[in-house]
Amino acid sequence: MIRVSAVDKYFGSLHVLKDINLEIPRGQVVVVLGPSGSGKSTLCRVLNRLETIDSGAVAVDGVPLPEEGRALAELRADVGMVFQQFNLFAHKSIIDNVTLGPIKVRKLGKDEAREEGMRLLRRVGIADQAEKYPAQLSGGQQQRAAIARALAMRPKVMLFDEPTSALDPEMVNEVLEVMAGLAEEGMTMLVVSHEMGFARRAAHRVLFMADGEVVEDTSPETFFDSPESERAKDFLGKIL
Ligand code: ATP
Ligand code: MG
Repeated sequence: MIRVSAVDKYFGSLHVLKDINLEIPRGQVVVVLGPSGSGKSTLCRVLNRLETIDSGAVAVDGVPLPEEGRALAELRADVGMVFQQFNLFAHKSIIDNVTLGPIKVRKLGKDEAREEGMRLLRRVGIADQAEKYPAQLSGGQQQRAAIARALAMRPKVMLFDEPTSALDPEMVNEVLEVMAGLAEEGMTMLVVSHEMGFARRAAHRVLFMADGEVVEDTSPETFFDSPESERAKDFLGKIL
């Protein structure tokens, strides 16, 4: 589903992704862990072409990442992304946030988009918030709205970049529940998150990054119970 081959990425002279090779098959849930600055967000952003790469190749569903235009819009529809800061449109209602993409990119009619949007809001448990504006919702509700908005594009893959780290602790679980539900339904997912409970429960695979490299690529059990590298041991010592 996602294939990353020999990818290198620099910011100026800073080498932030170093020869990344990664294949994520359909239906797999991958949790990415690693210290601050290790390249986790950059990897996510490379996967839906929010960042360019300097060498190597990325393909989604067998199709190399397009450069621009229509093909890029389609790629973005195929690869849903949820950020730490919910990035909802502040001046649009929740339902309008969810239906905007389907109307513009998928060319759905207004009524059809709304019907589908309401179904997604029910699924993430906030149908009763549909007519409100983002600022009127709690952080957890806003993040669930952001997930519904991404799902409305019918993505093949969902990327989550620390989706719960800006939330008050009591709201973390409601978002993780939605994500775990998606995982159970077979969504292909790459999740940057330090939520160990989620990783143990939902992940098929853990990638540990440090200094722009994938240092460990293993099962959650192996990673948490018997990490191999010193860097992973050190990291786990700090967060567990
Ligand atoms: P965190 O856990 O803090 O979110 P991260 O693993 O997501 O960290 P990245 O955001 O991918 O790390 O950053 C990797 C490196 O690239 C860091 O050294 C960061 O300072 C640098 N970097 C990220 N974005 C840019 C940019 N737009 N311009 C220059 N340097 C950048
Ligand atoms: Mg980051």
